[in-house]
Amino acid sequence: MSTLESDTCQNSYARMCVKLHRDWKKIPENQRKRPIEEELKKIAEKASIKMPTIIWGEFGNCFAFPDWQMKLSSHILRQDPDRNFRKTMDSWLHQITSPYHELRHAEQHLMMLRGFYAERVLVPFFLGDEREGELPHKFSDIEKDLGYRLDVMAFARNSKAELPNEHEKLQKVREWVTSRLGSGLDQRDGVHRKIQDAMTADAFMCAYGSYRQLPMEKDAFEIQIQLKRKISGQIQEAAGDDALRGMRSLFD
Ligand SMILES: [Zn+2]
Repeated sequence: MSTLESDTCQNSYARMCVKLHRDWKKIPENQRKRPIEEELKKIAEKASIKMPTIIWGEFGNCFAFPDWQMKLSSHILRQDPDRNFRKTMDSWLHQITSPYHELRHAEQHLMMLRGFYAERVLVPFFLGDEREGELPHKFSDIEKDLGYRLDVMAFARNSKAELPNEHEKLQKVREWVTSRLGSGLDQRDGVHRKIQDAMTADAFMCAYGSYRQLPMEKDAFEIQIQLKRKISGQIQEAAGDDALRGMRSLFD
């Protein structure tokens, strides 16, 4: 079973991006989302991820687990791949890999749920508004407290995908649970508030730095960086091949 960390999934998405990059200017803006959506669906199937609903619009990219929705910024579709962007956040590569980043969040949530069902990850225990820490608890008792859709939970329960065996990776899943559903929730909300309240670019970048360090974000950004490297390498390689073909043709 491949995960979004694997070369299989990353290479597949990278191939789509390289092709899209090559044809970008020939494809009308409103048709650029199609190959992205198709590729995401293909990868979701490969990685045993319940495909979230995709919604495009004038908002920032995000994954909302209670609705099982990926919100993707239409800004991606208007980006010029050739413009030399200075800010990483605004580059074509960053934008085009953001849907993959959001799909990783769906995968993270499914890994957390599978961890609960396999009783290898503790369910955070809530009692009203009082948080009682991370105690082992019967999953069935508190299903409704976690806020997941029932069909998503059923999907995770029946999923054939396996949890990572390595201690380190399972530990990462436990950190996501603490940060997203458990005692780290206040800290996470604080970081989100700081981003929303930032009045200057400096304040925003500072808050954004903390945001990228949140456990689930850190993981998703690491994967996104690997993917960006693969794509830019392949684009450069393709450009090199084209240049070589051009030079050879002079001597044909
Ligand atoms: Zn994210």
